[in-house]
Amino acid sequence: MRRKHLDVLKKRLLALDLPWFADQARKLLGVPASYYLRRPLCPPVFGGMVVTYRCNETCPMCNVRKKADPSREMDTPAMLDLAGQMADLGVSGVSITGGEPLVRADVFEIVERLKNRGVPVSMSTNGVRLADPVTARALVECGIDSVAVSLDGDTPEEHDRSRGRKGAFEKTLQGVRNLLEARNARPGARPLLVTLAVVLSRANAARFENILTLAKSLGVDNVSLNPLHDTFQGEPTEDPGLYFAPDDADLDALPDRLLELRARHGLMDSSRAYISHLGRFFRTGTMPGRCYAPYFSLYVDCHGDILPCGGHFYENRIAFNLQGRTLAQAWRSPEMQAVRDRLRNCRACYYSCMAELNLTYARFP
Ligand code: SF4
Ligand code: SF4
Repeated sequence: MRRKHLDVLKKRLLALDLPWFADQARKLLGVPASYYLRRPLCPPVFGGMVVTYRCNETCPMCNVRKKADPSREMDTPAMLDLAGQMADLGVSGVSITGGEPLVRADVFEIVERLKNRGVPVSMSTNGVRLADPVTARALVECGIDSVAVSLDGDTPEEHDRSRGRKGAFEKTLQGVRNLLEARNARPGARPLLVTLAVVLSRANAARFENILTLAKSLGVDNVSLNPLHDTFQGEPTEDPGLYFAPDDADLDALPDRLLELRARHGLMDSSRAYISHLGRFFRTGTMPGRCYAPYFSLYVDCHGDILPCGGHFYENRIAFNLQGRTLAQAWRSPEMQAVRDRLRNCRACYYSCMAELNLTYARFP
């Protein structure tokens, strides 16, 4: 996450893109000011596009895939229009997510539409479709800036447990290799950042160093981590053993151990501040400080539903439907402000994409 931002920063610096820096300064000041004044004073820092809820995996801790409804999914022209609206809105970057984004054959067109409008694009994928080298090449060639491939263990047993089926580990690893090969084979290509995204759970925390070693051997640029959250809202979880319990004895030592690994391996993308709060988050279920996410991000899904924030995306809730409005109108709508007011004191999640930005804003009074 942090390196993704630094990568964008570096590219803009090399291009001496002064208007871009002015826009970032406006957002840096504008987001906290928006929070205090209870109205959006600047466009969102990033947009999230849930391009599908369909997925080719069956992870036991995931209920996002259960929202899949192909009859409601926007077709290609509508999705391209939505991508154009993201650019019109003035976001600094778009995250393409799902479900599994690569189950949409037109996802490369969606990325290209954003890139043609000058918007940096990242994608989260389970990597299975990248085991086909043609798909890996297509993803590199559409010009995407950053790809995060989910990997939840360093052995087939561990990763496949998180995916709910055998064989996922090998496919994902092959996908990462294909992606790196396609990237490295492209002469003069814009560098694509490849990240292994780990969902930190009770099952893999003790073996985190093995995941870092595997990441090094694969040659990825980064390892990011997100704590496993309860996304079931009362539904029975299919594998309760994956979750940390607040009274787990290991939790006290967890941040220090991760920080030591971060210092020793140098691949971890998470900030010191983010890692330091992990144990406390698992114990209390609340993030530190204040959450500005409804003022710095806008998530829209393939049904035209606006989601309250990135955290609630995982929680399966929607805020309202676009119903013919543009994203810019939705961003400034009374419905969106009602959502922001409702979430004003929310501290329920600690996903890195939002938490790292919140920690950045926390440095300012
Ligand atoms: S967590 Fe991701 S890969 Fe797993 S089922 Fe859900 S959307 Fe698919
Ligand atoms: S802390 Fe609450 S408002 Fe902030 S991103 Fe998480 S769920 Fe959303």
